[in-house]
Amino acid sequence: MTKEEVLKQYFGYDSFREGQVELIDAILMGQDALGIMPTGAGKSICYQVPAMILPGLTVVISPLISLMKDQVGALNQAGIPACYFNSSLSQHDYFEAMERAKSGEYKIIYVAPERLEIDSFLSIAEECEISFVAVDEAHCVSQWGQDFRPSYLKIHSFISSLPKRPVVGAFTATATKRVMDDIVTYLHLVFPKTLVTGFDRPNLYFETHQGIPKTEFVLNYVKSHPDSSGIVYCISRKNVEKVCSALCDAGLSATRYHAGLSQEERKHNQDAFIYGDKLVMVATNAFGMGIDKSDVRFVIHHGMPKSLEAYYQEAGRAGRDGLKSDCILLYSAQDVRTNQFLIDQNNGNPELSDSEQDAIRSKELERLKLMTFYSTTTDCLRDYILKYFGESGCGRCNNCSNCLTQCEEIDITNEARKLVACVAMTNQKCSQTMLFDFVRGLPDEKLDKFGFTGKKGYGCLKDMSQKRLKEILDYLMRTGYLKTGDYYTIRLTEKSHDILSETVKLKVTKESEKRTKTRERAKKASKTVSSENRDLFELLRQKRAELAKAEKMPPYIIFSDKTLHEMASEMPLTEKDFLNLSGVGAHKCEKYSGEFIPVIRKYVQEH
Ligand code: ADP
Repeated sequence: MTKEEVLKQYFGYDSFREGQVELIDAILMGQDALGIMPTGAGKSICYQVPAMILPGLTVVISPLISLMKDQVGALNQAGIPACYFNSSLSQHDYFEAMERAKSGEYKIIYVAPERLEIDSFLSIAEECEISFVAVDEAHCVSQWGQDFRPSYLKIHSFISSLPKRPVVGAFTATATKRVMDDIVTYLHLVFPKTLVTGFDRPNLYFETHQGIPKTEFVLNYVKSHPDSSGIVYCISRKNVEKVCSALCDAGLSATRYHAGLSQEERKHNQDAFIYGDKLVMVATNAFGMGIDKSDVRFVIHHGMPKSLEAYYQEAGRAGRDGLKSDCILLYSAQDVRTNQFLIDQNNGNPELSDSEQDAIRSKELERLKLMTFYSTTTDCLRDYILKYFGESGCGRCNNCSNCLTQCEEIDITNEARKLVACVAMTNQKCSQTMLFDFVRGLPDEKLDKFGFTGKKGYGCLKDMSQKRLKEILDYLMRTGYLKTGDYYTIRLTEKSHDILSETVKLKVTKESEKRTKTRERAKKASKTVSSENRDLFELLRQKRAELAKAEKMPPYIIFSDKTLHEMASEMPLTEKDFLNLSGVGAHKCEKYSGEFIPVIRKYVQEH
């Protein structure tokens, strides 16, 4: 079979995506490969297609045992013989799978890296020809990545223990030079074909908000997207509890995930989300690595993460099926303080020296600063992301909240100067609340105690709203004209003088009234299903849910939303037309056309 035939026959796709051909060709020619592609770009195809063409067995090393079952389930659905080995298997199942593997029944086996050291597993290696080893989430081998897994360092000894060296492919979404170098070094890749695809995900819409009531926003968003599945990321467990309760209390379908829950509950809640029993997952960043759920329609960050790498990885869990999806970030200045605290608390890797730890810490603070700029910029969000990841940017994308917002420039030099001057006049002793009370001329016990009430500057911005003051203060913090000191006091910086001496002019862009209207229009235009077959889509979705329940499979593994949308608009009535749908391979056509075609036929007859 050619690679194109494998793609069509098993996966039901007509053409390869960017980067897939190059990597697959290299692997088939026996060259090692390193694929750096963003989440949702289609890394799995890069090792699953060669696995079906190469002789013998492909071993896929993957860090997340909780997801292997689904990954293997999806392959079996496509008609590919595959199994997995990890600690969740009973001894009986383990040995049975082992026997089958040895008898050549499988083309692909998934293993957790820890298994590679276990003798019983190694016996497979002795009896089967392993022609290809694919390392998924390969960044886990690097101590510089956020998900370091020591057992990944053992992969090389496993590979070198094999009688014949297989081709090795490594795949990840993390593209920093350091992590890439580590992957090549620690996996001992030999002159790998390295491919870094573009980081843009055109189907994702980016939006940011600052200084709004966050939980209320999440509630309204989820209410107005009643059929959509999505993830809400919070910085702390406490916020996860708060947001999840708010959603559940409003009668919405939500569940939660964080490290404070028992393992059983985490597993239960994760399954409820993946299998579609709960639509919304509220979680800390402990949730999500390797989550393959392709129909996540939105990812809302209730708090700002610590870096754009983390943000893009988490937000990128939306829209893996290529359909339009929303990535929304809700920012408040408190997020910066919380992240600073978390960075300070993190004692890091004990194997690193103090100076190395300091270097890492200052890098983290720098990344936090750039994340903050993303959260508050009024320029194109997509352009910002692409440039951050070293690409040339896209100018204006017209698919982010900033591009769809009409802005006007406002001069804030005067107000900013007064605020900075008051920080100086109160000897840098004020917290934010005290400072605001001071400039607005309000009574405040602490101001009294320090003897500041009535001092020069007291009440100098008395007509300004608290909200506006906060916006200006945030701007000054963000741009380094002020900073936070001990006990959350507001302090001057080296740059403060530029404002006091009137050498700079400060301008901020502010949204004009047209914002929401413009955005609503853009969003309406992006609706994927026309209203006339929306009903059919719902019927097909119900059918899929029914089949998924019976087979104990997540619905998107049977067919993605994208395939269902196409089904609803193409309305195939024959097997041949059914097979033409994107995402329908021969195996799935045989198995499911008889289930879905009658639903379509009935709908057509009734309409
Ligand atoms: P990644 O591992 O890079 O995050 P996946 O391998 O999970 O991404 O792929 C994301 C989605 O894209 C899956 O639903 C997959 O079936 C689909 N996909 C991959 N390659 C293609 C292709 N060539 N044509 C259409 N869909 C594809």
